[in-house]
Amino acid sequence: MKTVLITGGARGIGRAIAEKFADMGFDVAINYNTSKKQAEMLKNELLKKGAKAEIFCADVADADAVSKMVEDINGTFGGIDVLVNNAGIALPQGVFTDVTECDMKKVFDVDVFGLMNCTKAVIPQMVRKKSGKIINISSIWGVCGGSCEAVYSSAKAAVIGFTKALAKELGPSGITVNCVAPGLIDTDMNGHLSKEDIEDFCEAVPLGRVGKPDDVAEAVWLLASGGADYITGQVLNVDGGML
Ligand code: NAP
Repeated sequence: MKTVLITGGARGIGRAIAEKFADMGFDVAINYNTSKKQAEMLKNELLKKGAKAEIFCADVADADAVSKMVEDINGTFGGIDVLVNNAGIALPQGVFTDVTECDMKKVFDVDVFGLMNCTKAVIPQMVRKKSGKIINISSIWGVCGGSCEAVYSSAKAAVIGFTKALAKELGPSGITVNCVAPGLIDTDMNGHLSKEDIEDFCEAVPLGRVGKPDDVAEAVWLLASGGADYITGQVLNVDGGML
């Protein structure tokens, strides 16, 4: 049985990824930071479906907490075969000169260093097994830059650079590292957008709608499955054809 760790797995895109992997027969380690209740509810749903699932609390920005979490997951499931670095935060849209230093650090601490902490903690076991798949959730703003999203865009661009470099470093160890770059996806992260904002955005989307968390989960699964064994260092946009 294979195990997946999904960071920020209790809600939004992470939750859809957890459901997909459970459906495909994986044991599922659900990381959460603040959403304990939602994590527990998801775990119970997955158990009811006959999957094996457990929840693990850690702030991904805290390297010691991440190491402890990975130890606990190894104790529970015997190892991690797939890491999905999904946990992330965004700032409210605004001009760059208004962004505080504290907010800049907060975004990089979670979206970049958090992702690096989790990756660092799972690499040794993957190298020992000479196999593993790491899938990082970036954003189309990391690919093309989003106006009034300079900090988030640069953090998500860093995720792409990290992915491409690490894919080269870990390829000889049989580990693939890829990115999924979602467009606008219907989750709490976009809860502040008005109906009009969303309609305006959709005019630039050839498929004419916002994405669903399941759309992203399917792309993650694609990259985690055996069919993607020869794909590494790539960015898969899930954006309805926008870019
Ligand atoms: P969301 O609904 O706001 O959920 C964010 C998730 O990240 C939550 O599960 C949250 O966990 C977790 N998280 C945040 N800070 C964390 C930390 N310090 N440690 C551990 N977990 C933390 O967002 P989403 O839309 O599902 O986004 C998921 C990923 O997709 C993010 O990386 C986001 O940047 C990316 N993305 C989203 C969109 C979009 O339009 N929604 C587009 C492109 C990319 P807790 O609730 O437990 O704190």
